[in-house]
Amino acid sequence: MRLILLGPPGSGKGTQAKLLCSRNHLVHIATGDILRRAIEENTPAGARARPFMEAGKLVPDELVNGVIAERFASADRPTRFVMDGYPRSLVQADTFDALLDRHHLCLAAVVLLTVDDEEIVRRVAGRWVCPRCQTPYHVESNPPRVPGVYDLDGVRLEQRPDDRAETVRARLEVYRNNTAGLARHYRDKGLLREVFASGDIEGVYQRILEVLRGQAGSSC
Ligand code: AMP
Repeated sequence: MRLILLGPPGSGKGTQAKLLCSRNHLVHIATGDILRRAIEENTPAGARARPFMEAGKLVPDELVNGVIAERFASADRPTRFVMDGYPRSLVQADTFDALLDRHHLCLAAVVLLTVDDEEIVRRVAGRWVCPRCQTPYHVESNPPRVPGVYDLDGVRLEQRPDDRAETVRARLEVYRNNTAGLARHYRDKGLLREVFASGDIEGVYQRILEVLRGQAGSSC
């Protein structure tokens, strides 16, 4: 199956993408994670992306499209995947459509997670991630076994710099400005499925499966 997950920062998009991938043997492609890794590794793409990310702004389309094109150009290109955080603009959506066409790949669905703003702020403020693999935790809804420590290897969890309250507000604004157009783009293609993403992680996951049930016989 090939999916795109859309949703505001703090909608649980990353958590749901990871669940979908681990339970259905799909590859998780998260541009935010790829860009954060590029910053950590001090690559030219990372250096260009950094100021945009720290300000909560979108990284230029051409840079992100390049990162994705590279991912799909490799011999081990993913054929069954969940896109998490890409595309994020209409230019990116058009570029991705063309890339999928070139590789003769179709999309099963585009899942739009919806959450109200107050819940988003509460969620993001309590989010801590493993600095190495980006596994997310939440102090209330998904706490690690030992506070502040990654369950698997004891690494200290960190709060992402772009999860600061003022940056989250900027990111929500950016999200709103872009999502309406993106949602329309995929609705017109008959691919958009909306899922109310409040509540516990498993409940949201089950609602995603519910809207994907119609795709069960599809080869996409
Ligand atoms: P995320 O982890 O998906 O919330 O992304 C974190 C940050 O990375 C965003 O606020 C953007 O600055 C940047 N970013 C990630 N994906 C994209 C994208 N598809 N287009 C532009 N910027 C992106």
